[in-house]
Amino acid sequence: MQSNRSTDTQPEVALRKALRELHATGYRKNLRGLPGTPDIVFTHTRLAVFVHGCFWHGCRFCSSYRVPKTNEEFWREKVRRNQARHQQRLEALEAMGYRSLTFWECQLKADPTAIARLIVAASKR
Ligand SMILES: [Zn+2]
Repeated sequence: MQSNRSTDTQPEVALRKALRELHATGYRKNLRGLPGTPDIVFTHTRLAVFVHGCFWHGCRFCSSYRVPKTNEEFWREKVRRNQARHQQRLEALEAMGYRSLTFWECQLKADPTAIARLIVAASKR
C-alpha cells in the first residue's frame, strides 16, 4: 500500500506528461505553503489541482476503494478524516482566492489528456 502523501505518484506523473503534451505552462508542482500542498498550481490564475488516490479518499467511481475486512472501522474512519481534511483545505484555498479542482486517480488512468485539457481550460480563466 502506498503512502498517503507521497509526491510523484503514477497518476500525477501521467497528468504532468499530458500537460506537457498540451504545452501547458505556468504551473508548479507540489507547491508547499498552500493548504494541502496541491499537486499542480497555476499561480497566476490561482488554480489549485489535486489528484486523489482512490483508496485513501474513498472514491465512489471505481473499484479501487474497498474497505479492508481487517480493521474495517479504522479504515472507514481514516477515509472520513481524509475527506474532511480535504474539504477544509479547499475552503482555506478559497479564502485565499484560489479555485480548486480535484480529480481521482482512476479518472487520470482512464484519460489523462482529457483531464489535462480541463485543467488547461480552467487555468486560463
Ligand atoms: Zn477511483
